[in-house]
Amino acid sequence: MGKIKEVDDRFKRFGTVSFTSITKVNDFIDYLEDGKVMGNKCNDCGRVFFPPRADCYQCLTSNMDWFEISGTGKLITYSKLEYAPVGFGDDLPYAIAVLDYGEFKVFGRIASDLSENEIKVGMEMKTVANKLPNGQMNYVFQIA
Ligand SMILES: [Zn+2]
Repeated sequence: MGKIKEVDDRFKRFGTVSFTSITKVNDFIDYLEDGKVMGNKCNDCGRVFFPPRADCYQCLTSNMDWFEISGTGKLITYSKLEYAPVGFGDDLPYAIAVLDYGEFKVFGRIASDLSENEIKVGMEMKTVANKLPNGQMNYVFQIA
C-alpha cells in the first residue's frame, strides 16, 4: 500500500502570485497568518537572514531559529512601479522598498494606502503582515 506523500505547499498562500519555496522555511507563512513577519538566525554563527533561509550559507548547517522582525527599519530606497511583472498588474501602482534594520535588510512593498508625498527616504518604517483582497498573505511597510 503506497502512502500518499503530503505536499507542503504553504508558500502558495504568500503574495499576489504564488511561488514555491523550500519546505523548511514554510513556517514563515503560518507566522504571517498569525500577524508576525519572521526572519531566521543561524545558531552556529549568529548570522541573520531575511527572507528566511533553510540553511546558513556560511556554516552549511540548518541549525536555525526564527525571530520576529520587530521594531523599525530605516527606509533606504524605494521605487514606484508603473509596470509590474506578469501577475502583479492588478496591484499597480505600488512602491517597492528596502528597510535597513541594521543586521539585515527587508525588501518589500510600501502599504498601498500611503501616498507618495508621505514617503521619505530615511524615515522609520515597520514591517507588518498583510492579507491581500484575494486572501493571499504578504507583508508591507507602514510608517512607524
Ligand atoms: Zn551560520
